Formats: sequence, C-alpha cells, structure tokens
Amino acid sequence: MSDTTMASKIEVKHFNFYYGAFHALKDINLSIAENKVTAFIGPSGCGKSTLLRTFNRMYELYNEQRAEGEIWLDGENIVTKTEGVDRLRSKVGMVFQRPTPFPMSIYDNIAYGVRLFEKLPKSELDDRIEWALKKAALWTDVKDKLQDSGFALSGGQQQRVALARVLVLRPKLLLMDEPLSNLDAKLRLHMRSEIRRIQQELEITCLYVTHDQKEALTMSDRIMVMNRGHIDQLGTPMNLYEDPATPFVADFIGQANLLQGKLASVDENGWGHFAVAGKELLARMGKQNPPAIGENALLVVRPENLTMNESDNAIAMRIVNRLFEGDRIDYHVVIEGSGQEKPFSMSVPFLPGTQIIDEGSTVNVSFNPQAGVIIKG
Ligand code: ATP
Repeated sequence: MSDTTMASKIEVKHFNFYYGAFHALKDINLSIAENKVTAFIGPSGCGKSTLLRTFNRMYELYNEQRAEGEIWLDGENIVTKTEGVDRLRSKVGMVFQRPTPFPMSIYDNIAYGVRLFEKLPKSELDDRIEWALKKAALWTDVKDKLQDSGFALSGGQQQRVALARVLVLRPKLLLMDEPLSNLDAKLRLHMRSEIRRIQQELEITCLYVTHDQKEALTMSDRIMVMNRGHIDQLGTPMNLYEDPATPFVADFIGQANLLQGKLASVDENGWGHFAVAGKELLARMGKQNPPAIGENALLVVRPENLTMNESDNAIAMRIVNRLFEGDRIDYHVVIEGSGQEKPFSMSVPFLPGTQIIDEGSTVNVSFNPQAGVIIKG
C-alpha cells in the first residue's frame, strides 16, 4: 500500500462477520467508489446494517462478534486495527435511523466531537458549528436557540442535528443507516436532495442503507444488492435495472416478470432466442450472468415493456385479471402451455380511447427485444 492512490481507496476483501455461531456476512469483496454514494439495499436481515457498521468498527461495542478479512481505509486495514478506533470514528461519521440527541444543548451536541478530537478556539468552533448547521439546512431554524436542549427539536430537525454533528468533523466517509425513514414524505423528498447536494459539494464518500428502492435509485451513483449475507450485484442504478445478474436482483429492483424457458440459440447479431411454450422470443443476452445454449433460462421483462400488439416478437397470453389503476391498467396474463401458473403483469397506459380488454380474452403480447434480458434460470 505504498502507492498513494491505493492508499485513499476503500476496499473490502474476503470479509466475513459472525454473531456468535451465526455467519452474517459471507466473503464480501467490494471496491467503494470515492466521492460517490453507494446504496446498500436488500431484504430485511440480509446484513446491510452489519456491513455498514464494520466501516467504523461499531461491532466492537457488542459481545461475541467476530470479523475476519480486510477493510482498507486510508491505507490501513481497520479490521485488525487495535489503536485509534475512536479517531477512526471521527473520520467515518455515522447517521442512524433514529437519531438521539445527546442530553445537552444544540450547540454542545454539534461541538461534542470537535471538542474531543480538536482543540479549537471558541470563535473557530462557533464558525465550524454555523457552517455545519448551514450545510444541514438547519441554521435558520436554530440560530437563535443554540443553547436550547436538542430534545426541543422536531424529529426532522433532530435528524439534521445528527447530520450536522457528523459533518462538523469533515468525515472522509459518511455512513447512513436509513437516515430518512422516520421523516414524513415531504421532508424525506427534501432531505434526499439535501443529502445529495451536501455529499457532492463536500465530495464525501457515502454509504447509504435504505429499504426504499426509489431512494436508492434516485440518490445513489451505485447500488449494491445484498441477499442473505452475500453481494448479489453492484452497479449503477441503470445497470442493475437493465442487466440484473440474478433473478433476485431482477425482482428486487423495480417490478419484473420472470418467464421460464430455455436459451435456444444466440444469433450472429448477439440476440438470444428464448424458447417458451413452443415459441421463440428475441431478447438481449444478460452480460452479468448469461446462460449457455440449451440451458434453463429466465427472460426478464418489465410490466411496462409488454404491449398488446402483433409483432414478430409476440406470444399469445390469456388475461386472468384486470386492475384499473387510473393512469394505467395492470393486466395479469398467463402463457397457456408454459407450465407457469403465476401470472405475469402487463401495465399499459390508460389514455382517452384506450380499448379495454376483457378478462378471459387471449391476446398477442409483444415486447421490443431490447427491453427483454435473458439470464441464467
Ligand atoms: P434490516 O433491513 O431489517 O435492518 P439488515 O439487512 O440491516 O436488516 P442486519 O441488521 O445487518 O440486517 O442483520 C443481519 C443478520 O444478523 C440478521 O439475521 C440479524 O438477525 C442478525 N443480527 C444482527 N444483529 C445481531 C446481534 N447483535 N446479535 C445476533 N444476531 C444479529
């Protein structure tokens, strides 16, 4: 690690984490993009928070926890670090889901970390606190009551105090564990763009745990999808949406129809020919996880990409259910003879004059080959 560019990179290598006998994180390998937001998403219990907490060694606080492997931050492996863990926590700030102010004034809440690690003259400390409160969009609200208790603030304001408390230390890495899930919808939208603005302005590397797919898609540069202690895929939001590596990712990001079939062939233009119910449909070959010819495969097509019309890339489907959603109609359809009983979803815009098709009808359902992707089944 003598190379300076390497030294500032954040890398996770063969990282495993155990709660007693429970193996919570399994061979995590990851390179974190600097000055960018990487969102961790995945179902409850998949290990998002556990992984996030390892970056500032929060796990030391609990018993029977064991970490193995490497997490390189600023040129040192923090997993084996024995000294200066408190100082590490000042460089790696963390904002939690339910921020609890310290039982002290708003001013002291924000000054706390600075007083611990830096001896600043009062005027400089005042400036830093004002700067942090402005960055957290809280200055106007609290500038006249800095000596009031932190508990006197609303939930949204307390969340911003938590952010200011971390920003004031000018962290290299900002860890956020569902920081917006306790806020009302309007404030959540506002804070999404605020956090993004602060992160870009201060060029902070940010790791962000969220349950909210939309939040991940709109706020992050990269998304990491976790599943049972593994990383299933890491990529840009668009990359994950267009080229899911696994059925789990396809279904987790947005809504996806997963048709079961076989890969019949790949033509000279690179299109996959997907065989289902005696028919061949054309689609892109997945780059992440393509099946071999003759192998079981899945065709991933989003509901909004299915349409009812004649084309070379169409297959007959029967409508089993129809849900009117105002601006769209969601038809539930099955492919007769495919052996798949679970209906697929076809979401069509409801515009003036749109013809409504009855349940029980059989229609030709088609999609643009570019909108379908074939992955391993
Ligand atoms: P959520 O989205 O529900 O917050 P998560 O993906 O963040 O979940 P973690 O909190 O990282 O998941 O938990 C991962 C696994 O480790 C879960 O099965 C959880 O039960 C277990 N776990 C978490 N904390 C502890 C602990 N202190 N002791 C024992 N097991 C734990």
